[in-house]
This record gives sequence, structure tokens and C-alpha cells, in this order.
Amino acid sequence: MSAPRLEIRLDRIHHNAKALVDRLALLEIGVIGVTKAALGLPEIARELVRAGVTGIGDSRIENIETMRRAGLPCEFTLIRSPMISQAERVVAHADVSHNTEIDVIERLSLCAQAQGRTHGVLLMVELGDLREGILPAQLPELVGRVLRLPHIAFRGIGTNLACQSGVSPDQANMEALSSLADSLEETFGVEVETVSGGNSANLGWALGTTDARRINALRLGEAILLGRDPLHRKAIEGLYTDAFGLVAEVIECKQKPTRPWGELGQTAFGPARERTDCGLISQAILALGRQDVDPDGLEAPDGMEVLGASSDHLVVDTGTSSLAIGSEVTFQLNYSALLRAMTSPFVTRAMSKGDGEAADRSLTSGGRAA
Ligand SMILES: *Cc1c(COP(=O)(O)O)cnc(C)c1O
Repeated sequence: MSAPRLEIRLDRIHHNAKALVDRLALLEIGVIGVTKAALGLPEIARELVRAGVTGIGDSRIENIETMRRAGLPCEFTLIRSPMISQAERVVAHADVSHNTEIDVIERLSLCAQAQGRTHGVLLMVELGDLREGILPAQLPELVGRVLRLPHIAFRGIGTNLACQSGVSPDQANMEALSSLADSLEETFGVEVETVSGGNSANLGWALGTTDARRINALRLGEAILLGRDPLHRKAIEGLYTDAFGLVAEVIECKQKPTRPWGELGQTAFGPARERTDCGLISQAILALGRQDVDPDGLEAPDGMEVLGASSDHLVVDTGTSSLAIGSEVTFQLNYSALLRAMTSPFVTRAMSKGDGEAADRSLTSGGRAA
């Protein structure tokens, strides 16, 4: 098989999605499965749909188009504000989009009219994280204008936290979103059907509350794909953190000194890491680099340590064992590494459903009740 490659365990992704769908169902919160870190791969999206998500969300219309073409039977939401230049495509392929700008929504309305469709609009509200969103005080005016547009269906409101500034979702900001939904219904006499509380970082709040009030949707990517809560990067109990592995091939392995020699300047990617002298070590080079993955997001197998990476070389301290040329090493990935590996044209993918055997041993157990 070719390297580098991402090995993808579809059964583990399915397990993670199902576990979260079931836990959140107790609070009457539906899950929008977010596929952007998986490049909208239809095989992965299909597992999410089978696991019971209420819809699929992606930040790129290109990914939504791929999933549509694959014939997936679900509602698609574009979770990044549409570019005005893509409005036509957005209306043609997404059922709903997240929005904050009236200029964009007006264009969506025109395109929807031209295509004989109705496009759903979910308005994003700024609750402190300072990424996308309308300030709460300006929300009623925007809702009023949206409700007057033809071929636009106002679907509800949402917020996104913990992405730009790391603001934690909590009782206070979730209550603020719920009461905005209440007051819009009072003011306009419309139903605010969807109140979308946030992303994987909301799980700590959601699974710790007994009453989610108006919050009836969460958009989950990382928690499903990597089994982690992004706020603290902690493994979520009962989920797999190893649905993905990145396999790379050894192209050099030699005994080398720990410390470089000669006069030192910067490397192509900034200052090199200082190392203490441990004498000779076994050092391997893998055919993997920054063109393939974010090397800072790789977790090496036990006994190995990533020392550095350039465009095409990953240098690894392999401890006492030397690796055979042509042999393969599998790394675990964080979100950033997964995103880059998925979008690199050099990284192939091997998807499998596993044998269901070894699976249970790698389930996260203990720890926080999540
Ligand atoms: C990426 C994204 C999500 C999903 O985030 P995860 O942390 O992967 O769960 C949800 N909502 C919006 C608006 C996003 O951009």
C-alpha cells in the first residue's frame, strides 16, 4: 500500500457518532455531523447519517457538493457564512447556511428565486468569542429584514464559541442564546425552530446539564472524528480517539549524535529545537513532511519522539530500536494534523470497517463523565 496514507476506521467513527447522538438525545439535542476535517468524504458522512445525525454541516460548499453527488439522504448546512461570489452554488447545493450579513442573505434570496427554491438561513450570534456573529442588540433588526425576503426561510439562531478566543460554552452564554430565541418569538410571532449551541467544545456543558432549555442542536466534528473535547483536548469517555492513523515509510535510519555541529542559524521553518546531548541515538527519517501534515499535531508510537520536520522529511528519535528501511510507522493525529493530512494531495486514504475485535481495548474509559 502507498505511503503516506491515512487509515480510517469507519466503524469507530460510527461508534463515536452514535454514542454522542444517543447521549444528546436525552436532552432533546440533535447532532449536526461536521465533515470539514474529513474533506466531506461521503464514506464518513454516510456513517454519521447511519448513526442518526439530524444533518451534515460543512464549511466548504465544495465538500457539500461532493456529498450531494454521492446521494447522501440528509439535510446539508453550510456552516461558514457564504461568499457572495458562491451564492448560486450555495443555494443549489446547501439546504441551509449560517449567515451574519444582510448583503449575502439578499443575494441568496435572489438566487433562490431564480432557481425556484427556498433557502434556509440560520443567523449566527456573537456571544463573546469574537469570530462570526451578529451582536445580540442588532439581531431583531436583522431578523425583521430576513423575514421579509422572498425564498428565504428563517430557520433559527446559533452561536460559535471556543474557536477564536477560547471562550467556554457555559450556562450563562447558553441561557443568553435561549432567551434570544424566546424574545424573537415574542417580537415576531415566528417559530425559532433551530437553536444551535455550538461545536464539540459545548459537550462539557451539554453533558453536564439537565435542562438544555432552547438549545436543540450541536454541530460536532472533532468529538466524533477524534473522540476529544477541544476545550481541554481530553478524550471523551466511551469514544475512540484512534479512528484515524497516519502511516509513513522509513527512508533512512542511522545512529547519529543528538546535537548538530557547525555554526547555527535558523532552519527553513524557523529556529531549530535545542536538544540536550544524549550521545548517539537511533534517528529515522520518514517520508512525511509539512506538505502532508502539521507535524506538531502528530503523536508518535511509544518509544519514539518526533524531533522535527521540514517540507518532506520527518525526523524521529527511535530510541534504542532501529527501524528497517521501507518499514512503516503509524502516528495518531490531532485536529490540525488531520485537517492537513486530509487535504494534502500526497496522502492517500485506506478506509476499513475493522474486525470489531481489538476495538474495545482502545475505547476511552474512566476519566471525566462525558
Ligand atoms: C468547525 C465548526 C464546527 C465543528 O467544530 P468541532 O470543534 O470540530 O466540533 C461547528 N460549527 C462551526 C461554525 C464550525 O466552523
